[in-house]
Amino acid sequence: MAIEQSSKIVLKNLKQVYHIRNQETKRVEEFVALEDFSLSVNEGEFIAVVGPSGCGKSTLLDVVAGLTKTKSGEIYIDGKIVTGPALDRGFIMQGYALFPWRTVRRNVEYGLEVKHIHKKERAVVAKQYIDLVGLNGFEDRYPSELSGGMRQRVAIARSLAYDPQVLLMDEPFAAVDAQTREILQDELLRIWEKTQKTIIFITHSIEEAVLLAGKVVVMTKRPGHIKKILDINLPRPRTATDMRSSADYGSIARRVWEILNDVGQDNKATWIGQDGGPKSIADKIALSALL
Ligand code: ADP
Ligand code: MG
Repeated sequence: MAIEQSSKIVLKNLKQVYHIRNQETKRVEEFVALEDFSLSVNEGEFIAVVGPSGCGKSTLLDVVAGLTKTKSGEIYIDGKIVTGPALDRGFIMQGYALFPWRTVRRNVEYGLEVKHIHKKERAVVAKQYIDLVGLNGFEDRYPSELSGGMRQRVAIARSLAYDPQVLLMDEPFAAVDAQTREILQDELLRIWEKTQKTIIFITHSIEEAVLLAGKVVVMTKRPGHIKKILDINLPRPRTATDMRSSADYGSIARRVWEILNDVGQDNKATWIGQDGGPKSIADKIALSALL
């Protein structure tokens, strides 16, 4: 894929390795977790990344966040090379990662404190984002006094409050129940439409990726690199409920699943997603026309 240097985020030939001790030889060996990963993301784009467990999705997000240095390759945000974490990127992890000793309000104010925003203004901005994620009335609770879904809302509000242009989300809804997950998905779509952030969203749920994103990046097994990028041309605004009853949504999700599982390459696996069962050849042709 051609890399546009002018894009909001540019990832060029990223490679990441971990050093692992071989239990037999006792020697330290290089373990390649990410290889030849190049991607450009436009301003305001919502990208989802799917791939098998252990393929390097979290590794990818860690390096884009600047939390770990890559073995090789470059990351640019707005044309500037990334050398470490900064407030231009908000990172929302799988766990809730809130400060347990801080109330909701003070968690949300955290990034504003780091930015040396005055106390009065902090309170106004925090309130605005607490309202945006639907936590009005819970400002003085501690994380331990909230449900999983509410904690994840706090994490989202905390990231949005200091106004990063880029949101990096690593399976943010994996730990909540199915119903809460749908509510959070709808809320994230609403917030994204309102704020026009650029989002890279990691998930192992194909349905979630197709529901949320404008583009889905499918990764290979390790060492993780890009297998295919699919445009998701479903109309917006989208909601989880509308999408569930959309035939196009089901078809695209199935197509992503087929790419992920190498269907058509001697692989006898069959789609057991929402519309179930193996599909006819006619269906497959109709599908390829969709993409
Ligand atoms: P994913 O998020 O797609 O499940 P990860 O990025 O967490 O995958 O991990 C990719 C691979 O790198 C996995 O095989 C994992 O075991 C390995 N790995 C991740 N972090 C470390 C680490 N700190 N040290 C050694 N190996 C790691
Ligand atoms: Mg992960």
